Amino acid sequence: MGFKIVVWGLGAMGSGMARLITEKRGLELVGGIDRDQNKKGKDLGKILGGESLGIKVENDFNYTFKDADLVIIATTSFTREVFPQIERAVNNGLNVITIAEEMAYPEAQEAELADKIDKLARENGVTVLGTGVNPGFVLDTLVVTLSAVSCKINKIKATRVNDLSPFGPTVMKTQGVGTTPEEFKEGVEKGEITGHIGFPESIRMIADTIGWDLDEIKEKREPIISNTHRETPYIKVEPGMVAGCNHIAWGLKDGKKIIELEHPQQICPEKEGVETGDYIEISGDPDLKLRIKPEIPGGKGTQAVAVNMIPAVIEARPGLVSMMDLPVPRYIK
Ligand code: NAD
Repeated sequence: MGFKIVVWGLGAMGSGMARLITEKRGLELVGGIDRDQNKKGKDLGKILGGESLGIKVENDFNYTFKDADLVIIATTSFTREVFPQIERAVNNGLNVITIAEEMAYPEAQEAELADKIDKLARENGVTVLGTGVNPGFVLDTLVVTLSAVSCKINKIKATRVNDLSPFGPTVMKTQGVGTTPEEFKEGVEKGEITGHIGFPESIRMIADTIGWDLDEIKEKREPIISNTHRETPYIKVEPGMVAGCNHIAWGLKDGKKIIELEHPQQICPEKEGVETGDYIEISGDPDLKLRIKPEIPGGKGTQAVAVNMIPAVIEARPGLVSMMDLPVPRYIK
């Protein structure tokens, strides 16, 4: 068969990726790990909603996984939290792809851990990559790719307008959906309403890659206040309440916003005529505008990019890498 893959974290993303792996010609799904006691010991294929695969789901890393080539980790958003899992996999000789947002470019906020991961990976002769739809693709890799046809760049602006309606209670909470404007403000101050995770990573990835030395990165989270009744299976929003979070981040040089990334996320955007989409504008010579309407779907996009990067990661030089270090990302059969 092909490369042997383990998936760590069998939630919405991990199970989607595991299913996709079983459909790829050059990949073989050999293991699944999730801390959920309800999944422990069950057949992985059944957990994925298909035929039995004859593989039992484990609660933690198992030494038999040493024979695998790569583990995909889809458990958390933060470098600090995913670090013990990366360490375990790397020390057992496995390459790693993780969709933890901060791991898309961990040097942005966790420089020490990034160095540690790089050192561990080199010592073990394996590669570690963080990727996903965003960060990992839309507001960074795609931006840098488009910059290849620029003669001169003055400013980069990229916007991802998406629909939060398919997501569950955790996302509603972190985006402040269903709060009053006062509760939203308080939630942001307390760090409970986070908006998008990954702006410092995307901005640093772009700036470092095109050689822009930024002075600072700033972020702002604003409530998207609804004028209409909006409803999903998880939440109801009445007029005057918060339907989502408009999160904006800037990379500044000499007081000028030379990188601007905007990510308004809300439920039922169509209720107020908001069209979803991904937009990149590079002002310079020439001026460039890229539009993708509607937006690249977050779930499918994340699952696809993480799985499609597997061969590139296995073939890459050892160490911690980002999407900027690997060949042009591509679909695999
Ligand atoms: P989810 O909550 O549906 O699934 C997470 C799964 O991981 C759960 O089954 C949980 O039991 C398991 N888990 C958590 N910690 C574990 C541990 N220490 N050991 C074993 N299992 C563990 O979440 P999801 O939607 O699948 O997303 C996973 C993570 O990926 C989230 O943090 C999400 O924010 C992130 N994500 C990133 C991108 C991106 O573009 N980079 C895109 C989508 C999701």
